Amino acid sequence: MSDAISSSVEAVLDVLAASEGSDYIGEEVNQLEHALQCAHFARSAGASRELVLAALMHDIGHLIDPGAPSMDGLGVIEHERLGADFLRRHGFSETLVRLVEGHVQAKRYLTLTKPAYAKRLSDASRGTLEWQGGPMSEVEASAFESDPLFKPILALRTWDERAKERELEVWGLESYRPLIEAHLRDHAA
Ligand code: FE
Repeated sequence: MSDAISSSVEAVLDVLAASEGSDYIGEEVNQLEHALQCAHFARSAGASRELVLAALMHDIGHLIDPGAPSMDGLGVIEHERLGADFLRRHGFSETLVRLVEGHVQAKRYLTLTKPAYAKRLSDASRGTLEWQGGPMSEVEASAFESDPLFKPILALRTWDERAKERELEVWGLESYRPLIEAHLRDHAA
């Protein structure tokens, strides 16, 4: 394995491992539990490796810079873009990067199209919605529907929403190391 790949693997796993000490703002799980649960749901659903890894790392933008400006204490502003930039720099595929970047757009889409979804949002998630641009307009929503990654992005969002359970038994962080290595190897090839 090349040095660049092994240092990317370590960078990602270090950030995630350290996130056990970070609250998932306003929720009952910490950031590591949230990431592992989200990936667990993706894996249990038979999602592709790219989608499983995107689920694992979708909130990494909250974790990479402790000094980044926040949404009134509800997480980092534009965390989806910061996360996407971080993952692109570390050699992840453009599809994976776009899945991560899209998870906030999915929330904006669902709050427009599914009133029941908007009602189910946690207080913290409702609090950040305004920072994220509020519900999509009809025009934005139809553009989003024609995105080739529309379906997997929505799937990721539903797992993200569920990944707040107390004491759910899930695959551990180290179980993702071979998947990350294989993804980066294939993508570098
Ligand atoms: Fe999340």
